[in-house]
Order: sequence, then C-alpha cells, then structure tokens
Amino acid sequence: MNRSITTTSPEQTQDIARSLAEATKAPAIICLYGDLGAGKTTFTKGFASHFGLEEKDIKSPTYTFVREYEVGKLKLFHFDFYRIEAIDELIQHDLEEIFTRKDAIILVEWPERIEEILPSKRTNVWLEHVGDNQRNIKIMPPDELS
Ligand code: ADP
Ligand code: MG
Repeated sequence: MNRSITTTSPEQTQDIARSLAEATKAPAIICLYGDLGAGKTTFTKGFASHFGLEEKDIKSPTYTFVREYEVGKLKLFHFDFYRIEAIDELIQHDLEEIFTRKDAIILVEWPERIEEILPSKRTNVWLEHVGDNQRNIKIMPPDELS
C-alpha cells in the first residue's frame, strides 16, 4: 500500500527524506522516480543530511553517473542515469558490484533507465510536481516512515 504525502517546500521534502534515511540500514537501494524538477536531487540532499553530508556537497552526478560519499563505515552512492544512453557490459558489471555491497546505501535518480538490472529488493519513491512548490511523494514500501 502506498503512503502519499504532499509537501509545500523543498525543506519539507528534505524532512521526509531525512526520516526515510533515519529508518534506512545498509544495504539499501532507494529509487527516485519523477520528472525533471520533481525533486529527486532535493530529496537526496535531505536524505544525505542525516549522514552529516551538507546540502552543497550533493549535486547531480553528470558524466560519471555516480557520486560516492564515505560516512563512517558506510558508503553512500548517488546515481543519476538521466544521460545514460546504453548499459554496456562495463557499466553493468560495475553496477552489479555496487548493488550487492553490504555497506552501501544507494540513491538512484532516473532508475527507469536501468530498470532491467535493478534488484527487486528496493524502496521506490515517486515524486510528482503538483504546483509551484507542491510535490506529491509516495514511498513504497512505506513501513520505513511509520
Ligand atoms: P530533480 O532532481 O527531480 O530534477 P531537483 O531536486 O533538482 O529535481 O529540483 C527541484 C526544484 O524544485 C528545486 O529547485 C526545488 O527548490 C524546487 N521545489 C519547490 N518546491 C519543492 C518541493 N515541495 N519539494 C522539492 N523541491 C521543490
Ligand atoms: Mg536531479
């Protein structure tokens, strides 16, 4: 079942993301679905703040698809596949290696671009633009927030 939340500011979206982060233990994969400007990177900033990372440190990865952060014994990976054209063998191999790491928490923007190699055990987040500052957020499974 979905839990749906409407936020009215980027800060509020970050708060939701932070509570998901509080409830998340490695290994975990969080897939962020939504159009450009829906708030996927904003969500990631909020999520990462729980691990002591600063908002300005979190930028969408562009050419390499990934940014990696060390937080104590954990690794936080932030992927953005908006610009990926094809999943070649090298990328597939690297991703499969990262997706099976026990110490990783992984956030993925544009997961639909690599759907065929995403593990089924993951959390999906849908962000939808409703109005200027309004976003609808659905998290599945939603248990993490209760
Ligand atoms: P994406 O990564 O999905 O393309 P971004 O997070 O980069 O989206 O951009 C979202 C933009 O929308 C930011 O400029 C942010 O400040 C703005 N925004 C306005 N209201 C909200 C909200 N409620 N939640 C998230 N972002 C919002
Ligand atoms: Mg983004």
